[in-house]
Amino acid sequence: MTFLDYAPAPESTSILDLREQYGLYIGGEWVPGGGTPFASISPATERQIAMFGAADEGDVDAAVRAARTAFRDTWGPMSGRDRGKYLFRIARILQERARELAVAESLDNGKPIRETRDADVPLVAQWFFHCAGWADKLDWVGLGARPQALGVAAQVIPWNFPLLMLAWKVAPALAAGNTVVLKPAETTPLTAMLFAEICEQAGLPAGVVNLITGAGDTGAALVRHPDVDKVAFTGSTAVGREIAKALAGTRKKLTLELGGKGANIVFDDAPLDQAIEGIVDGIFFNQGQVCCAGSRLLVQESVHDEVMERLKERMATLRVGDPLDKNTDVGAINSSEQLARITRLVDAGIAEGGEAWSPPCELPAEGYWFAPTVVTGVEASSSLAREEIFGPVLSVLTFRTPDEAIAKANNSPYGLSAGIWSDKGSRVLAVADKLRAGVVWTNTFNKFDPASPFGGYKESGYGREGGRQGMQAYLKAGE
Ligand code: NAD
Repeated sequence: MTFLDYAPAPESTSILDLREQYGLYIGGEWVPGGGTPFASISPATERQIAMFGAADEGDVDAAVRAARTAFRDTWGPMSGRDRGKYLFRIARILQERARELAVAESLDNGKPIRETRDADVPLVAQWFFHCAGWADKLDWVGLGARPQALGVAAQVIPWNFPLLMLAWKVAPALAAGNTVVLKPAETTPLTAMLFAEICEQAGLPAGVVNLITGAGDTGAALVRHPDVDKVAFTGSTAVGREIAKALAGTRKKLTLELGGKGANIVFDDAPLDQAIEGIVDGIFFNQGQVCCAGSRLLVQESVHDEVMERLKERMATLRVGDPLDKNTDVGAINSSEQLARITRLVDAGIAEGGEAWSPPCELPAEGYWFAPTVVTGVEASSSLAREEIFGPVLSVLTFRTPDEAIAKANNSPYGLSAGIWSDKGSRVLAVADKLRAGVVWTNTFNKFDPASPFGGYKESGYGREGGRQGMQAYLKAGE
């Protein structure tokens, strides 16, 4: 029963001063791009936000050349201390423009303003501050004295955390002394364009950051360009595999941050109130479009019914709707393609015997929406337990003993994240030690820190982002 309904609390978009058309940002100039321009739409309303240029092979080549020139003439020879000053300046401008960036990101991606305002954008600034601090301390990254930058970094990112993924790529690369060419995802190019403006505002020398928009073919041309020294890719395992094949035998360094199917393990001695919040945050944060989402709930059989009951009660309080409303917990799915994929995978899981439940919620008539869903009775062999759905869908499996929990958690082609909920420190440490996952959270979930390395095992990719290890990915030992 609802005693009080929330009045709408929409965040105004008046802070945005968007252009109708954005070009490519190459060598410090805006250029139109040789490909066919494309629109980015708001997934909550299906209305067009702006048009964006598409980079063809000639544009990719121009961007790599601009980055090479800047590496040779300005950024490469610059002292770490001076590079750090630019990065600190960018971090401060990101903070000054935080509200504008949060609104733009919610509009373009469909995620709730509460998340862009309180998670995405603060983390973006934090990443730049953290990496700015590294710029004059590279002797301590663990590669010996005076490690060297690699040169030109080609970076391709997905749509689920557009500005945050840009920060994870650009900040360490620049701090280490590289120059970059980055391609944002085709459904979420907006905040990358605002970031280009921020680079201009910070007076960053031309060509240090080049931003090219376009679809997969632009990304493919970029990572294959012969004058690129380092490729950093975040996205699907299928595309990651293609890139690894294309780069095999070249001298390019490669890091891949790919998909996941994180196990969130709840033992019978877990603090259940906190665990329920952690389960909800693990799978409904960003509509579950999170590579490290806790999308497989492993719950000890003796507390299964209680956990399910409390979880459903909590899910019934989630407010789904307008991403720009400050009350919204669950926003829009990023694209019609992604919505179709989620629907297809859930239908297949139900056909395999899973039982799906969603709280009653009215979904808006326009836009792309999927109600928060929990599926029980999922077998370890079911596609719901194995495939990354990348949506607000939680698959529930049970276990009886810690060994069974570990075996089930590791029974996945992926190995990016996991969560453990238990009152016993000794059990937490013993289980965490046996999980094949790059990140293991205990009695919490989805916590990110620029000082902490993040990355995967198995089909979740290789290489780490964040911390000392994340800096190493953009450096080589000094001669
Ligand atoms: P995607 O692989 O389809 O696209 C990612 C990016 O690659 C986009 O910019 C796209 O244009 C580009 N691209 C597409 N084909 C390409 C090609 N052949 N060569 C080069 N670039 C190409 O993935 P997506 O659907 O945008 O993102 C969702 C995926 O990203 C999920 O699988 C998710 O788990 C993963 N992800 C992983 C992490 C991580 O850190 N491990 C973080 C966020 C997202």
